[in-house]
Amino acid sequence: MSEFTTAEIRGIVFDLDGTLYVCDRFAAEIQDAAAAYIAGVKGISQAEAGLLMAATRLRLVEESGTVQTLSAVCMALGGSVQELHRFFERTLRPEEYLFRDERVVRLLEGLAERFLLYIYTNNNRPLTTRIINYLGLDGLICGIFTIEDAWRGKPDEGMVNRVLEVIGLAPNETLFIGDRYDVDLRVPEQLGCPVYLSQNLEQLLRLGGLLIPPSLADKPAAPACPPAVQS
Ligand SMILES: [Mg+2]
Repeated sequence: MSEFTTAEIRGIVFDLDGTLYVCDRFAAEIQDAAAAYIAGVKGISQAEAGLLMAATRLRLVEESGTVQTLSAVCMALGGSVQELHRFFERTLRPEEYLFRDERVVRLLEGLAERFLLYIYTNNNRPLTTRIINYLGLDGLICGIFTIEDAWRGKPDEGMVNRVLEVIGLAPNETLFIGDRYDVDLRVPEQLGCPVYLSQNLEQLLRLGGLLIPPSLADKPAAPACPPAVQS
């Protein structure tokens, strides 16, 4: 986690999966669904596709020296990111795995009284909306940016610049929060944004104390959520 100056922050851009909730079983379900999709593309079994994806991920990491997203692995194997996400939309059932944690709801309610909250995720828009609603976070988020906005997954400098432009905040005013530094945080940090790595519930809940000083906890200063952000 880098140091950031709370006084300058006006907006927070959260990653979704693994950040606003952590669920290993659902993460595994996403990997299985991707393997099922690649199995169809390649005409092989799902087990074979899973092994092929693991080997491809390793190869891409060795070649690039950086972490590789599921989208990148699927594209390297001849899949399409759009088709992969339509497959996810048809087959994934986040409601079977996730649960609403009132501590997270209260955290975001508190943050929403002081900051403009956004989500920027490599997930697709239908699933993102379902997950946010299921977690009880709808109504607290000013805008959502998904892989569908440009069909380019994080990390992507062009999309981070677009996010900043759309929400109308300067880099030093926008805190990015995610569970994978190389995917969620490296590019925003290089552009001058404060960043915070959150990989479990404890780290996420710690944000309340970091961003809302106890002396101000009872004195909300509600920012006006701008008219619906078109992303
Ligand atoms: Mg994540």
